[in-house]
Amino acid sequence: MNKSLRKAVIAGNWKMNNTPSQTTALINEMKPLLAGADCEVVLCVPFIDIAAAVEAAKGSNIKIGAENVHFKASGAYTGEISAEMLKEAGVEYVVVGHSERRQYFGETDQTVNLRSLAAINAGLKPIICVGETLEQRELGYTETLLKYQTKMALTNVTADQLKDVVIAYEPVWAIGTGVTATADQADEGNRYCREAIAEVYGADVAETVTIQYGGSMNAKNADELVAKENVDGGLIGGASLKAEDFSVIVKAASK
Ligand code: PEP
Repeated sequence: MNKSLRKAVIAGNWKMNNTPSQTTALINEMKPLLAGADCEVVLCVPFIDIAAAVEAAKGSNIKIGAENVHFKASGAYTGEISAEMLKEAGVEYVVVGHSERRQYFGETDQTVNLRSLAAINAGLKPIICVGETLEQRELGYTETLLKYQTKMALTNVTADQLKDVVIAYEPVWAIGTGVTATADQADEGNRYCREAIAEVYGADVAETVTIQYGGSMNAKNADELVAKENVDGGLIGGASLKAEDFSVIVKAASK
């Protein structure tokens, strides 16, 4: 195992928080704190905030992401946003298959795959979320489920395209709950995802894929989590809404 083959990515997921003016203010507060980071820094923001975020992040090391993307290129899909629209707006990353989308908006493994392909084909980098519920964990299905979700999400993605893909292992029971997976649980979940990739693409390819941990990562526990062999940064919800906390997490991943 050689962690240095992989790029650590710390991505904030703002969820349904911040207006455009709040976006400008928060990014302006973050910029000096995040300058000099030795990892990829991304803020995934609501669609309505993208223009303000791209403008505010100009000239900094902050990359802007979206929180979802539709899988069709265009057409009669009222209320949806295409990958091409995001690309032209200056977006580089997009969260796909977040558990809140799976839970509340009917996201399936198939649509996660289609969204990921649409993103890749438009030159965006999908951050593909996978994770087990507490019930699935207690029934002993964590490994099976993570491998299934990972393989399904990557159907028809080529080995070459994997360089633009980030996987985020997010145990559903740890998201927004304040309950964090232990560093060993995070490492194990990430390892299952990596093994799934190795089973399809080979171990050498799997070694190069960035796999984040997400689920109540914060300024206090980030050090321990990102130090783990299989953890290449994090997807951060609540703590990405506070400039100081987010910058501590970015510093932990920069060591
Ligand atoms: C998330 O939204 O992906 C997330 C991990 O949220 P939180 O950090 O708040 O648990």
